[in-house]
Amino acid sequence: MRSPQQLHELFSAFAPRVISGPITHFGRLRQSADTFCEIAPASGAELADALGTAHRHGVPVRIRGQGHALNGASLPAAHELLLRTERLGDVRFETEGTVTAGAGVVLWSLRSVVERHGYTVPVVNDGYAGPSVAGFVAAGGFGPRSNLHGGFWENVATLTLVDGTGRLDRIDRSEALFPWLFGAMGQLGVVVEATLDIVPLDTAPADGASPPPYPAGAGASRELIAASPELQGPGPDEAERDERLLWFTLFTPGRSLARAQARLAALEAEHAGLLSYRQRYAYPIRQRRPVPALVYPRHEPFFAIGSWGALRLSPGDAAGPLRAHGEELTRIATELGCRRYIQSETTCDIDDYRVCFGEETYEAFRRLKAQQDPGIILNRGSVFAP
Ligand SMILES: Cc1cc2nc3c(=O)[nH]c(=O)nc-3n(C[C@H](O)[C@H](O)[C@H](O)COP(=O)(O)OP(=O)(O)OC[C@H]3O[C@@H](n4cnc5c(N)ncnc54)[C@H](O)[C@@H]3O)c2cc1C
Repeated sequence: MRSPQQLHELFSAFAPRVISGPITHFGRLRQSADTFCEIAPASGAELADALGTAHRHGVPVRIRGQGHALNGASLPAAHELLLRTERLGDVRFETEGTVTAGAGVVLWSLRSVVERHGYTVPVVNDGYAGPSVAGFVAAGGFGPRSNLHGGFWENVATLTLVDGTGRLDRIDRSEALFPWLFGAMGQLGVVVEATLDIVPLDTAPADGASPPPYPAGAGASRELIAASPELQGPGPDEAERDERLLWFTLFTPGRSLARAQARLAALEAEHAGLLSYRQRYAYPIRQRRPVPALVYPRHEPFFAIGSWGALRLSPGDAAGPLRAHGEELTRIATELGCRRYIQSETTCDIDDYRVCFGEETYEAFRRLKAQQDPGIILNRGSVFAP
């Protein structure tokens, strides 16, 4: 195991920084090592070079977008290299009907850039500006317009990926690996950029009128987005920043919706001291293309329903109650044939993933992991035992 200073030396070609002071994630339940080494590659080629070096030297790499995942999967240990995606931040209009965005572009900023041209990105997260494009892929992704446009996976055409050996590849939606990248939490490679479908804005002329001209050659640089508050969208307000907001989502088929709602209500009553619960949410998710196995086990439309609110306990006191709540939620999911949205939630240990995905899917995921990341350097210990 190398110290942050040794990693700094090994990755000297990639403008590394040794950071003193831990970082945390949304919800602030866990934190990183006090000192760690980080890099922020600015291109796919640089990222591929860095991962090639990490692979050759057996250096574990932790990948971080915006740090919104509640499970702490983006927090580096002292001997890990943190790979930040923030400099992969450009947006380009290259191919009719699509937009290409760097992994680190915040989804709401991407949508703002696209809307300047009379189009929009059909599916982004609800709430406020937060997840990055690749962070959303890593989770799976759904949003308020998933009733019309399906999950995020339905709206991405290609992903550019660097695997755990440093090989750069462009993966099209027709390829077998493609659906496995949704919900994979960075286990199968680092997403460099994504090409997404765009649709005309609802405010654009309808009824047979032509869509707005495709803005070929237009785009926005990371620097422009950073300097344009109107492109960034709102973040949490002051009260929300002070809270520890947690979500617990079930993906349920329509036939189990009423029972799933009733079980969530009972779970809230049983764990009344855990969160200050808010009104539960329910998003229908349309299905046109195959659903990624890591998101939901069947190819059918489903609902994302959930319980959420601010944590009422200190992080220290919350560990036991969160575990008991999580186990009960997993039981409910299993009994009803639902799936937990485990990728974006606070989890207690690695076995949660195996139970949640089911043995067959977990083993298929493990086999892909062995192909894509034979040295097991990416997000080690997060989903599979180290
Ligand atoms: C306020 C808020 C609202 C949300 N709303 C929704 C919602 O409406 N719908 C929904 O589906 N989800 C929602 N989420 C969950 C969120 O989409 C996921 O947690 C998402 O993974 C966060 O993205 P991020 O950029 O912050 O990723 P991080 O938290 O930085 O990372 C998450 C995971 O992705 C991996 N990762 C990050 N970048 C890459 C990359 N380039 N390549 C490979 N792996 C990578 C990380 O290693 C980690 O395992 C919400 C979360 C918050 C906090």
